[in-house]
This record gives sequence, structure tokens and C-alpha cells, in this order.
Amino acid sequence: MDYKATKKNPQWKWIKRWLDLAEHYASWSKDPSTKVGAVIVDDKNRLVSIGYNGMPQGLKNEDSYLNDRELKYKTIIHAEINALIFAQKTHADLSKCTLYTFPFLPCSNCMSIFLQSGIKTFITLKNDSERWKDSFEISRNLALDMNDVSVMEVEWYD
Ligand SMILES: [Zn+2]
Repeated sequence: MDYKATKKNPQWKWIKRWLDLAEHYASWSKDPSTKVGAVIVDDKNRLVSIGYNGMPQGLKNEDSYLNDRELKYKTIIHAEINALIFAQKTHADLSKCTLYTFPFLPCSNCMSIFLQSGIKTFITLKNDSERWKDSFEISRNLALDMNDVSVMEVEWYD
């Protein structure tokens, strides 16, 4: 499902708040090129978990990984996965939760993992980046091939 978010949507206030938080949290990432934030929220709009992309905590030579593109892609933990790892510790019922991501949809691997986690609602910004287009397309189709899963890509944002 694709929704066009408008200010008429009664959920808009919350959608904006959580996307703003995901944007803010993304800025904490030390990745020099791509900063991503992920926020997991329950059905009462309470924060369950939050994450940004980065290397495992405690890595001694973090910068040498972050500054080597090839190596970084093979080792970095995506924001969504960091949020999921912490969410598991809270024992929240993820089937009632929503995943907000900034600035784009989860990649196809993260989407697969999140569908397995039971999350049914995904909200993000619409992003037409050529670089990630193929991965987003797979993520979107994967979600649409599931029962009761919705994906909202907000078309504007201020
Ligand atoms: Zn990912």
C-alpha cells in the first residue's frame, strides 16, 4: 500500500514527530556518507527502540572501517538492525509496532529481517535516489507480497 501523507491524515502529527526523531538520530551516525535513523514505536505511539547505522560498539579502529568504502559496506550495522537488537531486549510485541526510517526505506535485507520480526507497518520518506532504487524496489515488493503489511512513503516533508 502506498499512501500520500497530507496534513488531513489524523496520524500526521505523530508521523512527523517520529520521522523528525529518526532524522535527528541519523545525525549521530559516524558514517561519513550515509546517515540513517530508525525508530520503532508501539501502537500507543510510545518509543520502543531507536538506532542509527554504525560499526559494532567497542571496535578499536572504527575510523579505518568507516573510511574504507568497500570494508564499510561489508561490516556496518544498519540503523534498523541496531534498533531491532535493542527492541528484542524490551520484549515488546513487534507485531503491533511501526518502523520509521530516515531518509529512506529499509534495504531489502533489513526489510526481510523486519518482516520476520513481525512488524507490519513501515513509514519513511519517499526517496528516488538512483543508487538505492533497486534495493527499495525489492523491499517494497517484498512487503506487498506479505499479508497485512503496509508501507507508507511520505511524499513531502518540512
Ligand atoms: Zn539495511
